Amino acid sequence: MERSLHVFDHPLIRHKLSILRKKDTPSWLFRTLLKEISLLLVYEITRDLPLQDIEIETPLETTKAWKLEGKKIVFVPILRAGLGLLEGMLEVIPSARVGHIGLYREPKTLQCVEYYCKFPEDTADREVIVLDPMLATGNSAIAAIHRIKEATPRSIRFVCLLAAPEGVKNFHDEHPDVPIFTAALDRCLNEKGYILPGLGDAGDRLFGTK
Ligand code: URA
Repeated sequence: MERSLHVFDHPLIRHKLSILRKKDTPSWLFRTLLKEISLLLVYEITRDLPLQDIEIETPLETTKAWKLEGKKIVFVPILRAGLGLLEGMLEVIPSARVGHIGLYREPKTLQCVEYYCKFPEDTADREVIVLDPMLATGNSAIAAIHRIKEATPRSIRFVCLLAAPEGVKNFHDEHPDVPIFTAALDRCLNEKGYILPGLGDAGDRLFGTK
């Protein structure tokens, strides 16, 4: 199966991402930039969503038009940092449903532990877009996708802000069928599993917890 990795290096995204990465960027600005980048990412991520032909009445005549096919989209942010990408995406697709999956990294083994999981009942009829700003080791993304596959959605896409090559490889070794969309492909991971050059801990920066 073909592995697909899309890196969106649009100048607006690169500019905003550079400010967001800076260590002195405060939480409020980090949140704002993450939301702005998510607004830009959502166009590309949804580019190939299936459309249905319909007919509508304009004030002047009947014309051919389109609507998104089927029951549309479920966003699944991986808690907690995934929430930073959610608001912007919901602004563009307000009818989307939201599932949540809570995973944390066990600091010694870097393995992930699930503590919460709730998806919409009709997830099987929808396209799932998984949100997590950081694809580092890939462990939490891999575990999240396994859980989501149990709900048999029509398709799954994974969206992040930064991806490490190690994480991309691990992710696609396990889920070659799930495309990855990222704003940047960084250099590598450090010994603690942080992305380099990265931006530090996305959850802490987003919520100001450190
Ligand atoms: N999670 C983060 O928040 N940052 C990293 O660099 C890696 C994982």
